[in-house]
Amino acid sequence: MKFSLSLFVILAATAATAQTPLFERFFENKTLRVDYFHTGTATTEFVGLDQVYEEGAWAGSRKDLIDTLNRGKYLVKVFDVETNQLIYSRGFASIYGEWETTQEARDEKVRTFHESVLLPFSKKPVQVVLAKRDKWMHFQDIFSTVIDPSSRFVNREKRGRAFKVVNLLENGPPHQKVDFLLLGDGYSKDDMGKFRKDAQRWREVILRTSPFKENAGKLNIRAIEVISEDSGIDEPRKNLWKNTALGTSYNSFDSPRYVLTYENRTIRDIAAAAPYDFIYIMTNANRYGGGGIYQLYATGHTIEENPDLEWQLEYMITHEFGHSFAGLGDEYYSSSISYLDFYASGVEPWEANVTALLDPAELKWHSFTEENTPLPTPWSKAFFDSLEAVRRTWDRSKPGYYEKWDKLRVQQLEKMQQTEHYGKVGAFEGAGYSSAGLYRPAVDCRMFSRSLVPYDPVCSAAIREVINFYAE
Ligand SMILES: [Zn+2]
Repeated sequence: MKFSLSLFVILAATAATAQTPLFERFFENKTLRVDYFHTGTATTEFVGLDQVYEEGAWAGSRKDLIDTLNRGKYLVKVFDVETNQLIYSRGFASIYGEWETTQEARDEKVRTFHESVLLPFSKKPVQVVLAKRDKWMHFQDIFSTVIDPSSRFVNREKRGRAFKVVNLLENGPPHQKVDFLLLGDGYSKDDMGKFRKDAQRWREVILRTSPFKENAGKLNIRAIEVISEDSGIDEPRKNLWKNTALGTSYNSFDSPRYVLTYENRTIRDIAAAAPYDFIYIMTNANRYGGGGIYQLYATGHTIEENPDLEWQLEYMITHEFGHSFAGLGDEYYSSSISYLDFYASGVEPWEANVTALLDPAELKWHSFTEENTPLPTPWSKAFFDSLEAVRRTWDRSKPGYYEKWDKLRVQQLEKMQQTEHYGKVGAFEGAGYSSAGLYRPAVDCRMFSRSLVPYDPVCSAAIREVINFYAE
């Protein structure tokens, strides 16, 4: 009798905890920002805690706390210390994770990058663990720390109040919607009129692009009117230096058109003024350039001086956002980049839209293919590559380059549209900066050619999954 009574108590208590939603049980409606330094070379890696901050309302989902998307090179895991239960996780990518594949890192030059993870604010002490994929793509822990959110070691300053926050699209409370946050860099006080126009264009581009278009009701869009001292952004290869609020620069990793900022703490402090899930940084710059890293941010230029190339602004927004929002990989393989073996050979990449096709029968986007589509799938690769070889002989700095390039590009697009499997999903060789050994889902996609061709069905589905993960 005594035994069964205590068993009843235990069962009743278990039932009660199971019914309390995870979020209400473990978290408050605030954000816990954990900043750390990520240091190392291509072969060694070290993470050191910087500071922990209390920030505003939790913008992420209260329902989807455990990551089911399995994207990103890194993973943050949060365990309740008392029960050792996993109560939050999120995959992400980082500048460090890309940098470690460059020659500089391989030369054993030690560098440090500042990073943040945003977590729901826990009620009790939590263990925060960072894990990284090994070369077999399995996550291995690389850092762990215990954080007591009620302690004096959590910085509670009210941050991010320097600039005005504006609402561009409001559909509901942050935790029920996907929250996009637009920041601007290189916009001086006099450029704020242009910033507002650029922000409107960004909004319009997203809302007319599938699959964002069909899911517009699940999105919130806000912008912070960030003012910089100078107009324009850094171009180290031209010895042009601008004092800007967010520190964006061309020539990241010494690559001509790759635009990033390493000033993570500044971005996070400014962004803290608004609830956000995903950041896009518009640069007040007139040369083609951008970048996008999963769960970090995307960047993109906002001025096209050649009116015939105005469409590139729309391409930039959606292509780079494909990276930062859905962790999509680059499907192209013919541009100049600074990575060495970005994808290890013989290993299936984590990106939803790139495959090593190690086992065609197990193709990860198999459900999108038709029975009679051959794998790998033939396309106009020889023609495409022959035009690329011609382009590489041209001098980009000579007048008329872009007109010639545009003609060549259109020839490539037309030929692709004539291939037998155009519009179908298969496995088309050439992806992820590699002409051979990596495959993409369609002949063309917003992640492949520089054009306004839509996201292919696999990329679209990957974007929809993220939208639905964040929107309740
Ligand atoms: Zn890209």
